[in-house]
Amino acid sequence: MSRAGSTDPRTPPAAAPWEADDDLGLAVRLLASTPTHEGRDPELLRHWARTAEAFGAALAPVPCRARITERADGLERGLLARYTSRPAPAVELYTDTLAAAEALIDARGWRHWYPRGSVREAALAHEAVHEQLHHGPAKAALKHALGHVVLRAGRFRLHGHVAGAEEIAAHAYARTVCGLGRSPLHLTAALADAVTQREK
Ligand SMILES: [Zn+2]
Repeated sequence: MSRAGSTDPRTPPAAAPWEADDDLGLAVRLLASTPTHEGRDPELLRHWARTAEAFGAALAPVPCRARITERADGLERGLLARYTSRPAPAVELYTDTLAAAEALIDARGWRHWYPRGSVREAALAHEAVHEQLHHGPAKAALKHALGHVVLRAGRFRLHGHVAGAEEIAAHAYARTVCGLGRSPLHLTAALADAVTQREK
């Protein structure tokens, strides 16, 4: 049984290993924990993470055009926001998870990184990237930038999908357009930890 203190948002959990990482380090961690990347060269993962970050940070700001719906079962489902392309482009925002993220920012003293209300704004920005990558030419541009060549035939090159890269690009875009001090990837990692602690 865990101490009652671990469920108290005012008591920060012991520092997790990822806390020492900068945003790029967290992006590398995300790739390394993706099953298709098991056994890949850490330097290659770092290169992909850096490329995806730079790609996302350089994307021109676009409004989220998808229909937004709010739900309150995010903590239960482990979701903060989600983009779905069918039947029509839609973004689900999980208000309970957004509230938990805002409370965690206060509890950890991270307001200088994530101003009040920025979690919702960042979530919408993040999902706007998924929307853009789903429908527009940006998906091919990201693949090209990553340069993961899976087939070569003469001058022809087929670029493969790099699992996790889109996620890193979406976080980097959200950090940039929302002017955050740290990537939402950092907040997501902390939130996942906090929820896990609570469930122990
Ligand atoms: Zn995402």
